[in-house]
Amino acid sequence: MDRLHYRERAERHISKLCLEIGERCVGSPGNKKATDYAAKVMREFGFQVETPGFDCFDWEDRGSELIVGNESFRVLSNPYTSGGEIRAPLSAAATIEELEQVEANGKIVFLYGQIAAEQLMPKNFTFYNPDEHRRINELLENRGFIAVLTATSRNPETAGGVYPFPLIEDGDFNLPGAYMTDSEGERLLAVSQGEEVFLKIDTERKPSEGCNVIGRRGENQAERVTVMAHIDSKQGTPGAIDNATGTAVLLLLAEMMAGYNGRMMVELAAVNGEDYYSNPGEMLYLEENRDRFDQIILGINIDGVGYRCFSAAYSCYDCPDEVSSAVRKVFDSSSVVEGEPWYQGDHGLFLYNNRPALAITSTAIQDLLDIAHTPDDKPEIIDYDQVVEVARTVYELLIRLSGRR
Ligand SMILES: [Zn+2]
Repeated sequence: MDRLHYRERAERHISKLCLEIGERCVGSPGNKKATDYAAKVMREFGFQVETPGFDCFDWEDRGSELIVGNESFRVLSNPYTSGGEIRAPLSAAATIEELEQVEANGKIVFLYGQIAAEQLMPKNFTFYNPDEHRRINELLENRGFIAVLTATSRNPETAGGVYPFPLIEDGDFNLPGAYMTDSEGERLLAVSQGEEVFLKIDTERKPSEGCNVIGRRGENQAERVTVMAHIDSKQGTPGAIDNATGTAVLLLLAEMMAGYNGRMMVELAAVNGEDYYSNPGEMLYLEENRDRFDQIILGINIDGVGYRCFSAAYSCYDCPDEVSSAVRKVFDSSSVVEGEPWYQGDHGLFLYNNRPALAITSTAIQDLLDIAHTPDDKPEIIDYDQVVEVARTVYELLIRLSGRR
């Protein structure tokens, strides 16, 4: 394999995605350019490509303002929020019990402290949604409040490296809202007692569309290996490690597989929505494969690889012996090391359907939580040789799996 050639190709794909296109948030013009590009490259190398689509909205944020008397506060629009101009008094709550009891009708609710400690799951998110989150969403929407303000600290586990983090990040949530740091929140509590506050949220939900890009080769779909990477990014980030590198691995694989003539079907799935509140591409993939998941002999998810100075790491989930021994053989002679189990990624789609899965990410996944979703996730932090090495190793695995069947 010509490593130098593939390294140049990796650089080309990533500079296309991160620099030429930039943000690739679902529904945005950049997202459309990215899916067009992935489909074009897969077709170029002889893959059969489908681009099943879904409805979504592109969200535009022109900023938010909060003013009490003569004082103004630094606030950010809740991602995906509807807009509005609201004048009303605040009702503050630090716990669910307080939220149940504070005066609600015609008020702007202000959440701070304990109730605002971790990001709420979107209300229609079905895979994981704690009762407490459902209860908070219900109280916010149904008690008569007209808008919501929140004050938050840091929480890399659920919100990446952003401070403050948006407590509510949900395009199906019906109250307009904004968020601020915990220290702005303290200042707000001190001046807002009984005062009317002015909240302006200048945002727009623009109806749009998006698609997955699914490339296939090999005629035997009863034995299929799927290699998946999410192609979307958050707003406000070039999304280099999260997940232009994973997308580049798919595109390098398309090229490496150009001469593939095995019977086992290889499916390259650029899914569109890991970083969008409703995961529309993932939901569509589930829907389209509902009766076909049992064909998948292994689902491989690539997300977060190529971080400079740290190795890529693989982890196996529910793999039968023949698959895990093939994985071990191939990965033992690569620079991708065995890593800790990790359950937050798109390989959950396979596990949820009782299919074996392999996840490839970084050994520095905890550090990456501080960088993901910020402007610092840029090509400068990429190790391109590692991106090529991940693609090469997955390629070897595909060839090995196709040969033994
Ligand atoms: Zn990701």
